[in-house]
Amino acid sequence: MKYLGAHVSTAGGVQNAPLNAHKIGAKAFALFTKNQRQWNAKPLTTEQIDGFLSAMEEFDYLPQQTLPHDSYLINLGHPEEEPRIKSLNAFIDELERCQQLGLDRLNFHPGSHLKKISEEVCLDHIAESLNHALDQTRGVSAIIENTAGQGSNLGYRFEHLAHIIDKVEDKSRIGVCIDTCHAFAAGYDLRTEAAYQQTMSAFDEIVGFNYLKGMHINDCKSEFESRVDRHHSIGQGNIGLEAFRLLMNDTRIDEIPMVLETINSDIWDQEINQLYGFIGER
Ligand SMILES: [Zn+2]
Ligand SMILES: [Zn+2]
Repeated sequence: MKYLGAHVSTAGGVQNAPLNAHKIGAKAFALFTKNQRQWNAKPLTTEQIDGFLSAMEEFDYLPQQTLPHDSYLINLGHPEEEPRIKSLNAFIDELERCQQLGLDRLNFHPGSHLKKISEEVCLDHIAESLNHALDQTRGVSAIIENTAGQGSNLGYRFEHLAHIIDKVEDKSRIGVCIDTCHAFAAGYDLRTEAAYQQTMSAFDEIVGFNYLKGMHINDCKSEFESRVDRHHSIGQGNIGLEAFRLLMNDTRIDEIPMVLETINSDIWDQEINQLYGFIGER
């Protein structure tokens, strides 16, 4: 079973996300549990939590169909201790919010070295931050997203994800999310069946499909290997439709949230329809 949907709006409160997903025919959704561009957020109210839980039931979504995304400000690999601890505390707060909402995973970008420390030291900081965060929370897994490698962002090689997983103590609460646009921009080709299989085999060998707990389904406006992160609507970018046809028929990617972060939310319902239509088409 494929759980496909989109990163929906929480305007008016998190309790509105399941309805917004339902409206576009989504079988999965992503959301921010707080404003993603601010450090501080008011705690979730009982009303919001209860509203979210009953909407999840009403519209028939399970935790494994939901992939919350953390704030863009958080950098668990920050070269300086003070901002790294600020990030850690914000990350713990995000894990706790997910737990309050009955959700089981939180998607985050690994971190940036800001050209002040080596990639390896930065990856070690990220793993250490994760160990603290997982230690102080319960029930929610941390899901590392691969990146396009723009600027000094790490996570653009599968080896970076493996490095972090290797140093995380509780491996039952760590996973990864592959963003197709980020992978393509980072130099992992998906455009033909041969390229797709090569990329997925590399992923399986270096990280392992057992750690795959979510996907972001995006076409890419930027060029292959450009290290530039620009999403595009499905079929309109440089990845092309074949990759998505292969993905929708890849049984290694069943039963995890697959989330569109494409640029035109007006056509998400059509993109979801089109992608579901690919199943069995090979
Ligand atoms: Zn992301
Ligand atoms: Zn993404």
